[in-house]
Amino acid sequence: MVYLDHHATTPLDPRVLAAMMPYLTGKFGNAASRNHKFGWEAEQAVDESRKQIARLIGASPREIIFTSGATESDNLAIKGVAEAYAGQGDHVITCAIEHKAVLDVCRKLEQRGARVTRLPVGRDGLVDPGAMEAAIGERTVLVSIMYANNEVGAIQPVAEIGRICRERGVPFHSDAAQAVGKVPVNVDADSIDLLSISAHKMYGPKGAGALYVRRRDPRVQLTAQMDGGGHERGMRSGTLNVPGIVGLGEACAICGREMDEESARLRRLRDRLRAKLEAELEEVSINGSMEHRLPHNLNMSFAYVEAESLMMAMSGVAVSSGSACTSATMEPSYVLRAMGVADDAARTSIRFGLGRFNTEEEVDYAAASAIEAVKSLRELSPLYDMAKGGKWFK
Ligand SMILES: *Cc1c(COP(=O)(O)O)cnc(C)c1O
Repeated sequence: MVYLDHHATTPLDPRVLAAMMPYLTGKFGNAASRNHKFGWEAEQAVDESRKQIARLIGASPREIIFTSGATESDNLAIKGVAEAYAGQGDHVITCAIEHKAVLDVCRKLEQRGARVTRLPVGRDGLVDPGAMEAAIGERTVLVSIMYANNEVGAIQPVAEIGRICRERGVPFHSDAAQAVGKVPVNVDADSIDLLSISAHKMYGPKGAGALYVRRRDPRVQLTAQMDGGGHERGMRSGTLNVPGIVGLGEACAICGREMDEESARLRRLRDRLRAKLEAELEEVSINGSMEHRLPHNLNMSFAYVEAESLMMAMSGVAVSSGSACTSATMEPSYVLRAMGVADDAARTSIRFGLGRFNTEEEVDYAAASAIEAVKSLRELSPLYDMAKGGKWFK
């Protein structure tokens, strides 16, 4: 089976597992144990990971807080800032195509009395920084805009958004679960104050993540969302997941070394996949900007072919669709809807997410499989036949 769903999760890199292994076995110490070697070696490993993460995003190790993943990082960043700055305001700006880990947190704040502005995006999936600036008011305490989208791969104009936020004195959070390790991210160049990271989106283990929190120019205040032993300078209590943290650090180190080469290779494979699909199939369209896009993402609509049927027919390829199966109805993706993609087109959309271990042969197999499936499903489609003036209505 060919795995092309790397926006959902990535496999663990064997080098990451090798780095983690000692901490799953003999080196099992609690990083907070100060009295013996078991604790010291765990603490040392955690410190090394902090450095590896910081290096990848241009931060200082003291600005890294370990969490269980990007969902927790998003919760800590948004709720933590909203609470810490409650004396100054109650308005949060985000955008319509954020991950649920941001949108649902914002809805929760709204229920608690905050005001939330959800910026629209264009057909390309991008936020307009001018519209963001116009939305900033006296009581705005946070702007939260994702670095790269998990469905269409759109990379937001983060540096410009950051520059405006800095000028206006508003903390800027970015959910970078899809971007870190895939494209260059630098919290200083991008003027980012809080940044969410997830290990399992970058060939690290599930259940490990980090939140970058700026400590100077300006220092960002944060109210803890997890109280307890005062770990992570009081911002996130709980015994550290040492193997997971070691894995996240190693994953960052590998991405830092190999990102340039890997992203060029994946871009080539992605463009090859796109070219094959476009050459063999009519009435296909790409969702989102090709210019401002993650190199390993392709999101395509195949007119007249329901994504669910297409995925079923492509049984040897793991991909995702632009619709979410709920109990009875097939809801088109809110991301595509916010981009102005018609419901019909959204229901026929497939997300291809390429990754580190995909080969050219696998991509060719996936392309052939998609082409064959689309052609045979269209053969059976009265709608397609009608559109083509086929036998049914001649
Ligand atoms: C996967 C993802 C998350 C959630 O990350 P977890 O580590 O699984 O909690 C949040 N935001 C984006 C953009 C993601 O792609």
